[in-house]
Amino acid sequence: MSSSSQDEIIEIPNSSSSSTSSSSSSSSSKVNKRYQSKFKKEWLSHSYFSTFLRECKTDQTKALCITCNLQFSIKNSGLGDINNHIRTKKHQECTKSAEANMCKIYHYRCFC
Ligand SMILES: [Zn+2]
Repeated sequence: MSSSSQDEIIEIPNSSSSSTSSSSSSSSSKVNKRYQSKFKKEWLSHSYFSTFLRECKTDQTKALCITCNLQFSIKNSGLGDINNHIRTKKHQECTKSAEANMCKIYHYRCFC
């Protein structure tokens, strides 16, 4: 007579999870770089940036926004800092007024 007690509890992971994920646009990537971000000329090849972004000649860790006419530091996250600047209220308002000026110019030019 042999009594074998099999008391194994097998946990089956719930693998049948059908998740219909819609568009999740929040992806926070933490990049801890020791060195400071510097201005990259390739950013200017983007037509969107080239409309307002300029290189700061005296300090490569800064960028110049010609729309707002101000310098801001980009040494923390580089392109991220620029995107942060774009989201500022000041820049939004300056962009609006700049576009209004552009419309005037286009109006003027279309007169021919
Ligand atoms: Zn700006």
